[in-house]
Amino acid sequence: SRLMGGLPYSRYVFQFILSTDERGCSGLEHRNSTTIRLSSLEVMKDVRSAASIISHEFFHLWNVKRITSAAFRPLNYQQEARTESLWWFEGVTSYFADLALLRSGVWSVEEFLRHQAREIERLQENPDRLRTTLAQASWRVWQNGLAGPGISYYNKGQLLGLLLDVMIRKATRNEKSLDQVVHYLYHTYAEADRGIGDDEWADILRQAVGKDFTAFLDRYLYGVAELPYQEILAFAGLSAVVQTKPTPSIGAIRIIGPRNRVFSLEETSAAGRAGLRRNDLILRIDDQAFKGEAGLYEWVGKKTIGDTVRLLISRDGVQWPLTVAVEKREQISCTLSLSPNPDSMTLAIRNSLLSGP
Ligand SMILES: [Zn+2]
Repeated sequence: SRLMGGLPYSRYVFQFILSTDERGCSGLEHRNSTTIRLSSLEVMKDVRSAASIISHEFFHLWNVKRITSAAFRPLNYQQEARTESLWWFEGVTSYFADLALLRSGVWSVEEFLRHQAREIERLQENPDRLRTTLAQASWRVWQNGLAGPGISYYNKGQLLGLLLDVMIRKATRNEKSLDQVVHYLYHTYAEADRGIGDDEWADILRQAVGKDFTAFLDRYLYGVAELPYQEILAFAGLSAVVQTKPTPSIGAIRIIGPRNRVFSLEETSAAGRAGLRRNDLILRIDDQAFKGEAGLYEWVGKKTIGDTVRLLISRDGVQWPLTVAVEKREQISCTLSLSPNPDSMTLAIRNSLLSGP
């Protein structure tokens, strides 16, 4: 409410569906409500694990449901609504959702920084970041779906939001921030019932904060240049250390649910080349039962590069074994922390970023 200058509803309803099935957590935003599906197992383990998605869906009441893309106006459920701007509508929503958790005291500064660091690791571990632009990832979701090849506009969009916020603060001597951009969009577009065109972002930034970000957008939204975390976060008194370590791996595999169902995997990885597919159930690894993604990574992590692992899988009710080569993967680890002794402008930027309006 403080960020947006009031709440545009008189009643907002959170509807939660707690389920024990393997579909994981998901949410659907509406103007004055949201429906959120959570795993009851996760919630029982740690109720705060639901904080991110609750905050994300709630922020959508502004960003997507009121501030929206021209492609969604009017929303026609019979046809594709393609846009390059999902980095803003989903990724930047996640960024503001995380800021809200920090500024409201649900998260500590350390938790906020740890979550941003995980996003950096996720992007830096994805080789497609050097092939697919953020704008393309958004546009192509109609072809590929969220589990297809490419990068996640949630993931890189959130990081672009963080870096853009710091760059605006730096360029305006901390007088403006991404907060002004979202205000501008709310008052100029949402209140006038106007959708945002994909080619308007540079103009929007110029209008909202009085600076030119064309080159920044060309490099990081429409280009595949590496995001310069260290350089930009230093302007906010944050130090980013990104390290790589060779680790035994059979590929990046996302597994969900109690039956170890493969949600996504890289087709070119060792497991993909050995025949593992989306929706397969992995029953055993080297004849051992295991628990989820963490269990799989832990087992593979103990192997030597050049070894093999045997997966027993089930597909369409038929079981068979796969032999998968254990390969070398550069594992990324990122640590974000507060830099010691920042100068006064850097300290001012850090304080206002972390504590908000
Ligand atoms: Zn969303």
